[in-house]
Parts: sequence; C-alpha cells; structure tokens
Amino acid sequence: MSEDVHQRAARLIAAECVEGLAAGERTWLEEHLEHCADCAAHGRAIEEALRALRAVSVPVRPALLAATQLRVRLRARELHEQRSRMRALCISCALSWILGVVTAPLLWRAFAWVGRSLALPDIVWMASFALWWIVPAAVGGTLAWWRSRVARENGYAAGLPR
Ligand SMILES: [Zn+2]
Repeated sequence: MSEDVHQRAARLIAAECVEGLAAGERTWLEEHLEHCADCAAHGRAIEEALRALRAVSVPVRPALLAATQLRVRLRARELHEQRSRMRALCISCALSWILGVVTAPLLWRAFAWVGRSLALPDIVWMASFALWWIVPAAVGGTLAWWRSRVARENGYAAGLPR
C-alpha cells in the first residue's frame, strides 16, 4: 500500500525536525505545503510546539547527567571497537581468500597424491579436499556468530542502553 501524500508530508515534517531532509524531499515538502493548508497548519503547529519545549528549562540531577554521559561514552567506545574488529575480520577474510586461491592447486595435487598413495577412490580424496575448505570456514563463522551473540547479551546485562 503506497503512502498517502499527506501522511508523507507529516512524516517529512517530523523527520525535518530530527535529522533534516535530503534536497529532493525538502523540495517536495515545500511544494506540498504551498498547496495544502492542512499540512502547512500541521507543520506550523509542530514548529510552535518545539519552540515552546525549547523554552522550558528542565533541571537535571548531576548524577543523572554523569550517568548519561558515561553510557554515551561507553556506547561510543563499543561502536569504535566493533568497527576495529570488523576491519580486522575483513583483512583476515581477504588474506584467507588470497592464500586459498594461491594454495588451492598445490593442495589439490597433495590430496590426489595422498589418495593415490593410499589407493583411495577418487571421490574420497576429492570430498576430503572440499571439506578442507568448508569445515574451517563453517567453524569460524559459527564461532564469530556465537561470540557476537554472547557479547550483545553481556552488553545488555551490564545495563547498557538498549
Ligand atoms: Zn497535505
């Protein structure tokens, strides 16, 4: 179901107050507000409400302020560490792929040689070659998934904002 133009205008008015709008969305909204009195009135009401809210001063306890600042800093550090881990993971994956491509022909010959030396059927050493590639990636992926899940649960247990 497509979004009604007036609903879209209301959504864009709200978004403009929070995060701003892209140039195309701003142009669309301005054109709509020129021709739609209801949406223009809604936009003015939102502006007046925000202006009134900004005029109200809310006393905040210093302990609450310090706790909030601490949580924001912890979250920023957590995001930074996540980015660092992802960068290291990407570099590791790239190196793994490069090494895999370079060593694949050598390993293929080694598996064939072992298969012939032990008089194994071709399908056995070929399947072993395939498992040589698949099993470590599957185990590594499972461990990475499990670690991220545990880290997320520990973060929530430590009282970080959800
Ligand atoms: Zn409208």
